[in-house]
Amino acid sequence: MGLIDSHTHLDFPDFDADRTQLLARSRASGVEQMVVLGVYQHNWQRLWDLVQTDTQLYAAFGLHPVYLNEHRPEHVLELGQWLSRLAGHPQLCAVGEIGLDYFLPELDREGQQQLFEAQLQLAADFQLPALLHVRRSHAQVIATLKRFRLQRGGIIHAFAGSREEAREYLKLGFKLGLGGAATWPQALRLRKVIVDLPLDAIVLETDSPDMAPAMYPNQRNSPEHLPDICQALAEVMGISPERLAETSTANARELFGW
Ligand SMILES: [Zn+2]
Repeated sequence: MGLIDSHTHLDFPDFDADRTQLLARSRASGVEQMVVLGVYQHNWQRLWDLVQTDTQLYAAFGLHPVYLNEHRPEHVLELGQWLSRLAGHPQLCAVGEIGLDYFLPELDREGQQQLFEAQLQLAADFQLPALLHVRRSHAQVIATLKRFRLQRGGIIHAFAGSREEAREYLKLGFKLGLGGAATWPQALRLRKVIVDLPLDAIVLETDSPDMAPAMYPNQRNSPEHLPDICQALAEVMGISPERLAETSTANARELFGW
């Protein structure tokens, strides 16, 4: 069962002590490819160095809205330079993690919007998919995406919206990233929504080290947990884990052009 972790922060220091072993264990459990996402300017080089050690790791570069106050205007320019320097490299796969976070009140919405749009423009210019963080901001993200109409779409990571929001994203060419959140029995609303999602909309992810699934509570999350996450989500959806693995992998391959 070949799985793709479409969202991990494997470059984070949380993995420094055992990254090599963890990668080996993940591969042994069937997790073949992983997308490592940049969140601020000072992790891009580290992230790129990491993916260069393994041909099945892929890089996305972006300025995450949660770190809004650390970003500087020149970082957007630098992002453009990174994308231009690596254009066409098989391990550059997307712009991300970018988006809008309306959950944290200290993040200026206007500032987030400007940053988000500047990076969507880069995704459009470099014909890359966009990997999005969307928290309490679906209406605004959907409205923004309708103006940009990205040719290659992208992924709404850790999707936890409604049926209607899912439909809007699908019309815009986006896939929905599912991971640990829906493995929790308490996530009643989300579990109801995912039962009805079309299978061709779904990609799997861990968001590791965050978003621990129900079977590994209060632990560092890891790509090696993806098979268990797949199993739990398949159960919620009433399909076999093999079917979910196969379809979600095909969906991610199609999106990234692998
Ligand atoms: Zn993330």
